[in-house]
Amino acid sequence: MIELSHIEKRFGDNVILRDISLLIPEGTVTALVGPSGGGKSTLLRCINLLEIPTAGMIRIGEETTTFQPGKKIGWQDIQKIRRQTGMVFQNFQLFPHQTAIENVMEGLVTVLRWPAERARDRAVELLTKVGMAHKMDAWPSTLSGGQQQRVAIARALAPSPRVLLCDEPTSALDPELAAEVVDVLGRLANEGTTMVMATHDLRLASKIATSVVFLEAGNIVETGPSRTLFGAPTQERTKQFISTLN
Ligand code: ATP
Ligand code: MG
Repeated sequence: MIELSHIEKRFGDNVILRDISLLIPEGTVTALVGPSGGGKSTLLRCINLLEIPTAGMIRIGEETTTFQPGKKIGWQDIQKIRRQTGMVFQNFQLFPHQTAIENVMEGLVTVLRWPAERARDRAVELLTKVGMAHKMDAWPSTLSGGQQQRVAIARALAPSPRVLLCDEPTSALDPELAAEVVDVLGRLANEGTTMVMATHDLRLASKIATSVVFLEAGNIVETGPSRTLFGAPTQERTKQFISTLN
């Protein structure tokens, strides 16, 4: 279970996230949707402490961290939370000077200190899972965007994080390449991977999300099962937003 309790994030005087509380059970997919600037990326970055919340509590598995203004969070506490998460970005962010398999092995070898052999076996397993085993020795620059994103997903999953965080994983891709990535994420969801993903891609959200959170101006406007939120939203604002997407 991942628990976010009363999370607040300010940059200076600007409140970017306000009193965000969410429970994310293991094996579920939560889609964060809403207008640009609503706080989706910031919320994802708060979950893995790329941004430190200004107030609230995050629990991932056994690790709990509380935040309050002026309280410094130690590097070790940050690492404890961060190691439970894997992150996939809109623009892939593969290491350009490493092949596909080296990208997937990197964190296992340098951070977790796995022997290269074991890291290679794990990388092959994951590249196979995302349909990229045949390109394991390719350089990122020679791969399509969809292929790069699939390698990035394998890399994020390599250390077996409790949760995969995805920030607009398909939005830099043409529809056909986006479909490849949606297929991979859908398969991972079916296998029980816990995911939280920010997306403008309604097809992605409705295809794989268990629940949907509609964020606007740093507030949760509405949250519910994917079918309810897209099919029969209760808030007027959610209805309006969904209608602009169709
Ligand atoms: P989009 O759909 O365009 O990706 P988003 O929902 O992901 O938008 P965020 O990127 O989380 O929105 O941004 C939320 C707000 O926080 C915006 O007003 C943004 O300008 C502000 N913001 C984000 N990062 C910072 C920062 N490092 N310093 C100051 N303000 C920031
Ligand atoms: Mg964003």
